[in-house]
Amino acid sequence: MSQSVCILGVTGSIGQSTLKILQQHSEKYSVFAVTAHSRILELVEICKQYRPKIVVVPSNKVDELKQYFQNQNLKNIEILSGEAGLIAVAEHTDVDVVMAAIVGAAGLLPTLAAVKAGKRVLLANKEALVMSGELMMQAAHDYHAELLPVDSEHNAIFQCLPQNYFQTERNGQPKQGVSRILLTASGGPFLNHSFEQLQRVTPAQACKHPNWSMGQKISVDSATLMNKGLELIEACHLFAISEQFVTVVVHPQSIIHSMVQYVDGSTLAQMGNPDMCTPIAHALAWPDRIQTHVPALDLFMNQHLDFQEPDTTRFPALKLARQAMQSGGLAPAILNAANEIAVAAFLKNKIGFTEIPQVVEQTLNQVESGIAESIDLILQADQVARSVAQQIVINKGN
Ligand code: NDP
Ligand code: MG
Repeated sequence: MSQSVCILGVTGSIGQSTLKILQQHSEKYSVFAVTAHSRILELVEICKQYRPKIVVVPSNKVDELKQYFQNQNLKNIEILSGEAGLIAVAEHTDVDVVMAAIVGAAGLLPTLAAVKAGKRVLLANKEALVMSGELMMQAAHDYHAELLPVDSEHNAIFQCLPQNYFQTERNGQPKQGVSRILLTASGGPFLNHSFEQLQRVTPAQACKHPNWSMGQKISVDSATLMNKGLELIEACHLFAISEQFVTVVVHPQSIIHSMVQYVDGSTLAQMGNPDMCTPIAHALAWPDRIQTHVPALDLFMNQHLDFQEPDTTRFPALKLARQAMQSGGLAPAILNAANEIAVAAFLKNKIGFTEIPQVVEQTLNQVESGIAESIDLILQADQVARSVAQQIVINKGN
């Protein structure tokens, strides 16, 4: 029987790649529900092609969408709205698989709802896990959800870990013969920029990643290396490993997507052309493998694989994220909230590129952390950090 899929964030870059895979394997998967935020026209096109049973949009977009549906004679598609709508489709009894591909903190509650409903959750929305790490992982365990990483690095690590890795205790220590995780980073478009050059980069330049085509927010995060910082935190939670056992390795070609080292001297790497269809297909079909249109790697065309240490003086975001992980509790949620505000401000030309980590650092210094005991406390810290970061942005006032 075919698997029923819900795509949270269908209009985004990951959402689109997911549709591509589902289309290629339409005998195995059907699109049950999709959600969008601002790109309503794109959503209508998706509805025409995939005929989902339910769509979710913000409440202020419902009338517009109804009008389009009427004009296009699209019938029998239920429209839900707002956060309640997102949660309802994420935990819907008819859904088997949830692709969590909303960007940012907005994805936290729907992703958690999918986990608590015991779904197979394909996790792209790393911010949700950064904010709620322990609670999300505990919920996945308690409700028997399959939380599978779509982020290419974490998907690579998952592929390189031993099969019995997840059967033992979660205590932060490497286990089952694993000694270290090597998290690779492309270094982004400004890898070799001086600090002076970094001060002058524009949003358009920051959004143009050399190897990956992605949404705006993650593109800027990749350029500041905050993406790697968020991924470091993501890896610690997904693989129950303390941050001291995760080394970030800059690898500009993005051919190796990450590695796992073992106590016997082995290093296993997962390699492939940089295309998110591979990790999406892997997580969707796991433990099976399904075909994608991604061409096999041609090693004769990729003769150089380079590696270097990240420079946390020019790219302090990575250091800030590692410190937030060390502090634990609400610190990662505060880091994430401040970063979302800073990136949005940079995209609107309100602050410069090098001010993004400054806003994050100052917010972390000003907002009191604490134990991340409940989702309410996490959401509260998120809100406080957003307003503090917003004020810092205003004070920087370009
Ligand atoms: P995009 O910006 O391309 O897409 C984001 C999606 O989320 C869109 O469908 C958007 O709707 C929706 N959305 C935005 N804001 C809200 C909101 N407030 N409430 C509900 N929905 C919202 O991002 P990406 O696809 O690039 O990234 C998605 C997630 O996956 C991010 O967390 C990112 O870090 C992660 N990821 C992405 C990778 C990539 O290659 N792109 C790689 C690894 C991880 P609309 O477009 O209609 O406004
Ligand atoms: Mg990644």
